[in-house]
Amino acid sequence: MFAGLAVDGTTVNSLDEDSTIELTFATDTEFRCTACGADLVETPGGFDDDTGESDCPAYLPDGPDADDTGPHTPERVALAWCNSAGIRTDETDDAITLSLSTGDPRGAFTITIRRVPDDADSPLAGRLLLHLPHPGEPTPHEPLHPLHPGTFVIGRPAPTRRGHLTAA
Ligand SMILES: [Zn+2]
Repeated sequence: MFAGLAVDGTTVNSLDEDSTIELTFATDTEFRCTACGADLVETPGGFDDDTGESDCPAYLPDGPDADDTGPHTPERVALAWCNSAGIRTDETDDAITLSLSTGDPRGAFTITIRRVPDDADSPLAGRLLLHLPHPGEPTPHEPLHPLHPGTFVIGRPAPTRRGHLTAA
């Protein structure tokens, strides 16, 4: 095997044996305030910043008679749902696996393409097989619920109506 490793189009390395490439994401901040920029943690009553304060210092009252204090405005931090994303090559198994970890950081959803050995006693000898995460899989990374062909909702089943912003 010989493979080039490129980051944003620039070759940074070449690989000549089995390799595991992994991006790991900082996932300790899931919510941030769009008004003051503070990292937020979800509480039973709303969202607090890292000083435990639920009032936002950048809160703008709606009008002259409105309260001059108000809550933070939470938004989800982009890509905070991902623990890691990776590529693993395995020459012995003639397989490449892509992985995406969204739940327990020790595991991941995996997509694998593997070639059946030419000497296999099978009509599939020499053919490529694609293995995908699917509902009903034993020990799944996270439960999957079909939405459309090829698209799944991860975790809980899809609600019938849009809910308020809450942790996944
Ligand atoms: Zn704020």
